[in-house]
Amino acid sequence: MTRVVPCRFKLSAVVQFAYRQRKSLAAIGLFAVMVALLLGGTQRVAAGSIVSGETRITSEDPRQLNFRISIEAEAGLASARFNFKVLSPTGNVGGAGDANFIAARKTDVTFILETNTSTRYIPVGSEFVIWWELVGLDGSEKLTDEESFIFLDGQYDWKSRTQGQVTVFWYGNNDSNADAAFEAASATIADGEALLETNVPYPVKVMVWESESAGELARQPRGSTFDSQVVTGGQRVAADLIYVFTSDVDVVRHETAHIVTKVAGDGPFTRIPAWLDEGTAMYLQKKVSSNYDRVLKSAVRSDTTLNLRSIQAPVNEARLVNLFYGQSWSTVEFMVDAFGQEAFSELYRVVKAGSTIDGALQAVYGVNQDGLYNLWRTENGLAPIDFALRGTVTPEPIPEATRIPLVIPTSVAVAPRSGSATDVGTDTNEAPLLNNQVPSTGNQIQNTESDVSTGTIGLIVGLVTLVVAGTLVGGALILLRKG
Ligand SMILES: [Zn+2]
Repeated sequence: MTRVVPCRFKLSAVVQFAYRQRKSLAAIGLFAVMVALLLGGTQRVAAGSIVSGETRITSEDPRQLNFRISIEAEAGLASARFNFKVLSPTGNVGGAGDANFIAARKTDVTFILETNTSTRYIPVGSEFVIWWELVGLDGSEKLTDEESFIFLDGQYDWKSRTQGQVTVFWYGNNDSNADAAFEAASATIADGEALLETNVPYPVKVMVWESESAGELARQPRGSTFDSQVVTGGQRVAADLIYVFTSDVDVVRHETAHIVTKVAGDGPFTRIPAWLDEGTAMYLQKKVSSNYDRVLKSAVRSDTTLNLRSIQAPVNEARLVNLFYGQSWSTVEFMVDAFGQEAFSELYRVVKAGSTIDGALQAVYGVNQDGLYNLWRTENGLAPIDFALRGTVTPEPIPEATRIPLVIPTSVAVAPRSGSATDVGTDTNEAPLLNNQVPSTGNQIQNTESDVSTGTIGLIVGLVTLVVAGTLVGGALILLRKG
């Protein structure tokens, strides 16, 4: 409807102009015919048109998003389809599904998107673009304008602050924590970029909850056994998005570091091993809990440290988690102290370029993971292991959750509930946002990576209409002036 309003306005102005000029009756007659034709055409469009408002979006439970749009369709709706994209610096993902409505001239069209299921996880904090495809029973079609929004946990009243490339979200009386998180994230990006000689090229979002339980519904569920034994301080849930559940700024530093390690080390076909990822994240903390040191020293004393090759994926067994983090941290610290920052950043570059970790270590340090482990053992007063004698190419079996290829795990330091309350956390596999699952709402979701929008077609039709109308009006004016 709005599309034709400017056209009508122009025509009425021209009619007044012609009347004032009292020019040729013939020209006015011709003009009147054109006006009638145009208005007739306009009415036909109006009769078949579908009018819609803005989409109302709610998420009282962050495990689902509810979309509702009021529409008015002359003939009633034949179909309605909801479309969405989740924007990500590593590639947008999206989908579509059939929406619900009743067959009336005026109706609300609704769609429920499950965001946290066993097969799909769209983290709170994600940026969405949505639009609707509406078709009337008379064949009229409407593609609504794209609408953007940030998916927030509707249980809380969020505030945000953006400065430079960091945006922090928080709620309640958590302002000071939010400020601290903002400072820590900004500083860690700079420190991580310097350590790894890289550049984080996209904005980073930090979501601050008041406690772990407050953010529970927004988190991707893990095995309940593991969850019951560890407490989470923070998580990196997407390439550009971290969650923070405590006031500990080292949690923020740790999770932000994971954003930098991903940029520096993950290539199209390769990724850094967990020990390097976690070790670097802990190296970029201001301080590390003495728990890790204690557990590590104990393992060194009893010669029960972990073979590096066995911790390329994060340890999921709660009793080994502290040792996994402690040893990863100790190994990275040893690498930087003994061989320097330049070699360390070079290791990241070689992995990102497509090398295996063994190949990259060999190229930069002259040893593979076994050799590096032995150097570290020697540094810690342990005898090197003769891997050739053992024939230990086979990694030690470790418990591990189902993992998605080509995505990195992230986490923050972990401690048992019974231990010190500091530096606690767990790993999160960064799962693909969506897949072709049929959600419980019964709406079939399909991936749509394409940015091609049929909205473009609607725009072109509108422009053509304006050009045709303009040409007719121009022609009539020329006739009037000639008369
Ligand atoms: Zn971590």
